[in-house]
Amino acid sequence: MRLIFLGAPGAGKGTYAAVLSEQLGITTISTGDILRENVKRDTSLGREAKAFMERGALVPDELVTRMLAERLGEPDVKAGFILDGFPRTLAQAEALGKLLQDKKIALTAAVNIEVPREVLIRRLTGRRSCPACGANYNVNTNLRPKRDEMCDRCGAQLITRSDDRLETIRTRLEVYAESTAPLIDYYRNAGLLRTVAAEGEISAIVDRIRAAVAP
Ligand code: AMP
Repeated sequence: MRLIFLGAPGAGKGTYAAVLSEQLGITTISTGDILRENVKRDTSLGREAKAFMERGALVPDELVTRMLAERLGEPDVKAGFILDGFPRTLAQAEALGKLLQDKKIALTAAVNIEVPREVLIRRLTGRRSCPACGANYNVNTNLRPKRDEMCDRCGAQLITRSDDRLETIRTRLEVYAESTAPLIDYYRNAGLLRTVAAEGEISAIVDRIRAAVAP
């Protein structure tokens, strides 16, 4: 199974991708996670990407596409994949099409994860992560940690992603509407679009995604 997850920041793409990739035994490729890892390690890619990410803008297509092409060359991808956060522009969608064509593989579906705007903002402002073990939480949903702002797994103080501040969230939602939402029509025209309403329990949403992408 080869899936793309489309959806605004805060739609829950990463959360559903984590559950689904476990269930299906396929890898999730999150370009946001790869970029954050590069920023943390202070690589040259990280240094180039950092300023764009901090203000909620997109990292240039050329950089992200090169990074994705490398990742798609790794062996674990052969079993299938979920792309979380890529493509985000028409140029990236076209580049992905060419990469897959060269590998003689096709996408199974592009899943459009839909969430009302108020819910997106509530989820984004509540997002926390553990700097020590990488666990994710949300203080505004039922994914809140047991003890206030502390990691359930390792007890570290949770942090807010620097691009989850309200001002940056607004920019990211605007960038989504302008650059990424047009991909919904792009994949609809390709006959690959499946739309899923992402409200309710995580397990129910994942079941809906599975049903929508089943052959
Ligand atoms: P995410 O974790 O998917 O919300 O991504 C966090 C940030 O990384 C975004 O706001 C962008 O700055 C950058 N980013 C991630 N994926 C892409 C992409 N496909 N194209 C451009 N920028 C990206």
